[in-house]
Amino acid sequence: MNKAESARLGSYLEQQGYQAVAIAEEADLVVLNSCVVRQSAENRVIGRLEALKSLKKQRPQLTLAVTGCLVNSKVDRLKERFPYVDYFFKPGGYPPGMEKPAAPEMVLPQHPLSTALVPIIQGCNHFCSYCIVPYRRGRERSRPVEEIVSEVKELVRRGVKEVILLGQNVDSYGHDLPGSPDLAMLLYRLNTIDGLSRLRFLTNHPQEMSSRLTEAVASLDKVCEEMNLAVQSGSNDILKLMRRGYTVEDYRRLVVEIRHRIPGVALSTDVIVGFPSETEAQFQQTVDLLSDIGFDVVHVAAYSPRPGTIAARRFKDDVPLAEKKARLSRIEQLQKAIATEINSRHLGRTVEVLVEGRKKGRWWGRTRTNKLVFFDGSDDYRGQLIRVNIDKASPWALQGKVEN
Ligand code: SF4
Repeated sequence: MNKAESARLGSYLEQQGYQAVAIAEEADLVVLNSCVVRQSAENRVIGRLEALKSLKKQRPQLTLAVTGCLVNSKVDRLKERFPYVDYFFKPGGYPPGMEKPAAPEMVLPQHPLSTALVPIIQGCNHFCSYCIVPYRRGRERSRPVEEIVSEVKELVRRGVKEVILLGQNVDSYGHDLPGSPDLAMLLYRLNTIDGLSRLRFLTNHPQEMSSRLTEAVASLDKVCEEMNLAVQSGSNDILKLMRRGYTVEDYRRLVVEIRHRIPGVALSTDVIVGFPSETEAQFQQTVDLLSDIGFDVVHVAAYSPRPGTIAARRFKDDVPLAEKKARLSRIEQLQKAIATEINSRHLGRTVEVLVEGRKKGRWWGRTRTNKLVFFDGSDDYRGQLIRVNIDKASPWALQGKVEN
């Protein structure tokens, strides 16, 4: 979401006459788009602000602005703490003194890459006990269907092939709009846009995911067979403390249904280790769940209390840091073995790749199931859909040769 908002803000500023420069030292205006989802991310933001303080001292004419999740309702406190910052503005907003763009297409990149990020819903109503998002990004607010459809059409006109629909919880999309459209309905509409090749969406919530959505993914040719379904823990006791609203059994049933309806679907998940009071046995339940399901990708994080959240107020952060790190490493090792096995199934197969660019002299792109693929070639493949025969697989990526 921050990446999408940064791109939009950058594009908007360009249209206001600004030009991007490579380093802050050369800038007239620096906008820091902050993420505070984890303590480490917040620490990095603070560190960056400290570094910018000396720049501002050297060049007082430099304008410093901060947006993103650091900017909460207590802006006065932020102003006291960082008096050298000129402006603070809400995530997804625009710097004070600059007009909100009259039309959404005004903030679209002029020369987008083949993939574009399109926010469809902001905020979250869930209040999981560890999560700061609802406090910083507020309650759910969906963008109207027609606004999203016309934005995607415009992106396609500018050369975009793939669109990733974004939201903290895309399954809630539309409930706050007249007529209560849902994500499935939005996908049916977007699937009809000529020139668009692929559609994805992030992130789902296991409690709210509907069978209408799995049906849409199964039946629409442009919607990729890939889903992110955060489980967070394999222990029902911990899920309850996290206020996730489902049980491990519910989650397992959902995965069975998704895999039944969408053959070959790639699943990714998020896991938190070392949540307050998590015992070795409860952690082992998470390990067992991950082994049984066999996700394509697992994003694992060690719990860190976020001030203001329910967990930070009510629970003691009692799992020692060394233990959290050990649990995190165990999951990483397990997932490495699982991903190696899953990716090796691609050997000898031909996959469709949307080429996004070049890295270290090689072309790279992604399959419909979001596998990273590297290959060689002297043609300009950027933005093209090509077929690649896979001859090497690692836990993180595939390699192959372009099929002639
Ligand atoms: S559903 Fe996601 S964004 Fe919403 S509170 Fe829970 S973890 Fe945070």
